[in-house]
Amino acid sequence: MLKLTWQRSNALQKRAFKVMPLGVNSNFRFWGEGITPYMQKAKGAYLWDADGNKYIDYRMAFGPIILGHAYDEVNEKVKQEIDLGTLAAMTYELEIETAEKFVKMCPGVEMVRFACSGTEATMHAIRVARAFTGRENIIKFEGMYHGFQDYTLWSTYAPTEAYGNYGNPISVPSSSGIPRPLSELVTTLPFNNPDVLEKILKSTGEQVAAIIVEPCMGNCGAILPQKNFLQFIRKQCDKYGIVMILDEVKTGFRIANGGAQEFYHITPDLATYAKAFANGYPLAAFGGKKEIMSIIGHGVAQGGTFTNNKPGVAAAWATLTVLEREPVIKTIEKRGKRLMDGIGEIFAEAGIPVCINGYPAMFSFAVGVEKVTDQRTWNGSEKEYYLALIEAMIERGVMPDHDPREPWFLCYSHSEDDIDTTLEVVREVVKEVKR
Ligand code: PLP
Repeated sequence: MLKLTWQRSNALQKRAFKVMPLGVNSNFRFWGEGITPYMQKAKGAYLWDADGNKYIDYRMAFGPIILGHAYDEVNEKVKQEIDLGTLAAMTYELEIETAEKFVKMCPGVEMVRFACSGTEATMHAIRVARAFTGRENIIKFEGMYHGFQDYTLWSTYAPTEAYGNYGNPISVPSSSGIPRPLSELVTTLPFNNPDVLEKILKSTGEQVAAIIVEPCMGNCGAILPQKNFLQFIRKQCDKYGIVMILDEVKTGFRIANGGAQEFYHITPDLATYAKAFANGYPLAAFGGKKEIMSIIGHGVAQGGTFTNNKPGVAAAWATLTVLEREPVIKTIEKRGKRLMDGIGEIFAEAGIPVCINGYPAMFSFAVGVEKVTDQRTWNGSEKEYYLALIEAMIERGVMPDHDPREPWFLCYSHSEDDIDTTLEVVREVVKEVKR
């Protein structure tokens, strides 16, 4: 249990409890009663809680902050643009320019539509895939998260036992309120298991509209795809006429300027984006092959009042401009790799087995296991010990997320000194916290 005295945070939480369920506007922001920090401000790589404690932030708002909090160039562009109107139900030039930059940067995207959140982007991509194929079924992977829409909020965080046999998994709804008949439309499979995927497709492939997949398990310990697994999905989609949707909401503009498509040399049919696209402002997108995207507007509905909101579009324009101009990803890669390697060495010296996963810009580690390939194997890691380590780090001014599934995120503003400080803290807590 966190030992920090968060007096002001606790007072704010009590106040918030009265008007917001759990005192927050997204369940993921609730760490527990009396142990949920509330925020005062954030700048660069740092965050200050409501009590004025400063942290090196590794949550980066769950991924969006790729340049740094309140990044000057992004904020300046937003300020300049919002005085010209924030919303007019009319398309404007900066929006087209942003779409052009987007298409240029993301290898598999020939056409794009903007949205406001990752949830919306995946929801629209699924609709388009269904309309394109004339089929209704969806395949997703256990432990993957594609937002809060009902179609994919299945087998996301259930205890492993609920998932049934590897070869014949059970789709478990991740919330009350998700209509049971939707279970007919979703098949959930273990990640990194080509045999199970192949078997399921042999019997049902021709009814499947889309396979939606995160390039890595960005919502479960950053578990990487095994060699050729994404390519295997690609081939199976081609074989059965299924739309491959790559959910790049966490990897897009983070692991490479062109996201996982550039990183893995893979071309999905559709891909979804949000997070790092606008460095913390609300803008998302989905896009892909012209042949598929161009059915939108021809009997296929898609839209939204805020989908071209000026702050989001201006921020995205500025973020992509910086990404194109400066060695953002390379710098993050170098610093993140030093952090990943350093963490590995500290655990090795302490004789504690650890499995480090992910990319320098977005990584995690599972303790007490040698190898994790999917949510089921990851569930066998020492999550309570991990949490105790994280809480001890937070007490010392280093803040990864409180949820062991959530990766550590880096941004362009994390300095070499921040990495040094973080490694000192990790060394200290690994020594002090009882396993
Ligand atoms: N897809 C992935 C891979 C995500 O990680 C998330 C959010 O964490 C989403 C979709 C949903 O995005 P949003 O929270 O913007 O709705």
